[in-house]
Amino acid sequence: MQTKSDCEKYRGKLKNAAVLISPAAVIDLANLPRGFSRLTDEELKALEGMAVQPPRVSTPPVPNPEILKPEERIEFLKSEGVAVVLQCDGGTFGLVRGFSRPGSNNDKWSREKDLNSLPIIAVTPEHYNRMYRILKRDIPVKIEIEVQNRIGENVEKACNVIGEIPGTDLKNEVVMIGAHFDSWHESPGASDNASGCAVALEAARILKAIGVHPRRTIRIALWSGEEQGLHGSREYVLAHFGNPKTRTKPEYEKFSVYFNQDYGAGAYRGINLQGNEFVRRIFGAWMEPFRDLGMTTLTIQSVGSTDHIPFDNNGLPAFQFLQDRVGIGGHSNMDVFDTLVPEDLKKNAVIMAAFAYHAAMSDQRIPRKALK
Ligand SMILES: [Zn+2]
Repeated sequence: MQTKSDCEKYRGKLKNAAVLISPAAVIDLANLPRGFSRLTDEELKALEGMAVQPPRVSTPPVPNPEILKPEERIEFLKSEGVAVVLQCDGGTFGLVRGFSRPGSNNDKWSREKDLNSLPIIAVTPEHYNRMYRILKRDIPVKIEIEVQNRIGENVEKACNVIGEIPGTDLKNEVVMIGAHFDSWHESPGASDNASGCAVALEAARILKAIGVHPRRTIRIALWSGEEQGLHGSREYVLAHFGNPKTRTKPEYEKFSVYFNQDYGAGAYRGINLQGNEFVRRIFGAWMEPFRDLGMTTLTIQSVGSTDHIPFDNNGLPAFQFLQDRVGIGGHSNMDVFDTLVPEDLKKNAVIMAAFAYHAAMSDQRIPRKALK
């Protein structure tokens, strides 16, 4: 059901039905089993050789009132008396992914919208596709569903966790490390992003344990509300540093750099320079002692979708490490502790600690690229 006229085909026929909301899942057999892939020398070389990416010019899609918005579709199904919606997002066997909610990901979340929605249940692709195939032959499928649900009382508020090692002669300047503390509900979120929090905490512990006296303050941030749209980091950046397009705060000039980990739990293989050519030689020098840990590659690549972005968007240097792919996948029921590789996380903590230390000790703050 993609368009408003599609609704007419189903009107009056859906009472108490379970609706399969999307086509059959496409299973990528070539990539099974997934879960562990180190970046190869060729892949690292290609990343190193990347040219600066031209700024993306996106033309906004022409609005077509005929196309159903996700919440309009749910509204229609609800008015037709549908019992439950089944959804399959992703094509890995045994995996359910946690996007089963009304509205699109970019929509503003609201408690009312969630409470008023139909039950939407994520189903593994092998189960979803089996039902789909049987229905295609006009054979009825009977399913039994038991939903036990709980809705928290305090979900409107999210809190960042902040700690710091105070600086000395430049203590008003700040170097930040961090990851996000929130995760999806269908697993412990081991890689996304407990692993990042563990690495950032361990980096801070290492610095404390060896008794460093950094010149700049080293601040660790475990963000909340990342998965709903980088809310914790975005609000933090606005509150502390402001927006250079409207008004910056005094702390804006005191900020040096932020290092984030949120691309799974794999070992660092380098760092994405986020289009900032000024930091290539600086990071290259800091990285050199870790060559034998596999930390070798600087790429001009800009990456997104996580908490360094609110900094980057406001002209503050912020970076995400280049990582091996380890683990089965965030936002899924398989993002479990058993998929983590302790050795990778230990390496990452050492490297993050070293980068934070160098940034805190150097004579100058990290150079900034031109504002977009
Ligand atoms: Zn994440």
